[in-house]
Amino acid sequence: MVLKRIELNGFKSFADKTEILLSPGVTVIVGPNGSGKSNVSDAIRWVLGEQSARSLRGSKMEDVIFAGSERRKPVGMAEVSIHLDNDQGKLPVEYREVLVTRRVYRSGESDYLLNRSTCRLRDIHELFADTGLGREGISIIGQGRVDEVLSSRPEERRAFIEEAAGIVKYRNRKNDALKKMEDTQNHIVRVEDIIDELE
Ligand code: ATP
Repeated sequence: MVLKRIELNGFKSFADKTEILLSPGVTVIVGPNGSGKSNVSDAIRWVLGEQSARSLRGSKMEDVIFAGSERRKPVGMAEVSIHLDNDQGKLPVEYREVLVTRRVYRSGESDYLLNRSTCRLRDIHELFADTGLGREGISIIGQGRVDEVLSSRPEERRAFIEEAAGIVKYRNRKNDALKKMEDTQNHIVRVEDIIDELE
């Protein structure tokens, strides 16, 4: 799986539509302080479903929308898309090229799209679970993150290892199944109560 292209539009300092093409090999983004380098990695984490505004260096999710500058008015929507080459089928979908898009409006409305069709955040999480690009993924290491990982609690460190080992998907399914069993058990208790009342 290769990240081939990133498109940003209205995201943080990227007021206009901006395309970043990533050629095979190493790509380095250079620029003066404050020119938006970290905003690119924030954009990748955001499109992959990051829910914490704080970890995107803001205080609320609206902070990812271009807030205006001396010469430009603020915009009403932020959109980020990433294009991934899925030739090797690492992502569990039939597409050979996977396009993931996330949008947020100032009204708070937001959308996720998978190859231009609306999907749920859960679909994005499931798509990337165990690929290393997921929520707990270790493919994006922000400034200070190495220290954070080293000093994290054992349970948090275990989550990184689980993601790398590819078992997150099964843990999530197990949790869903346990929840269903609990709901079913509650229904059984309720049905038994009704039967008792009727007898
Ligand atoms: P450094 O080299 O110092 O780490 P950097 O190149 O990584 O800097 P970023 O942190 O990516 O820079 O970008 C910071 C810039 O993005 C700041 O100028 C900030 O004003 C701008 N910025 C962040 N959010 C928004 C927003 N919502 N609207 C407009 N500009 C924004």
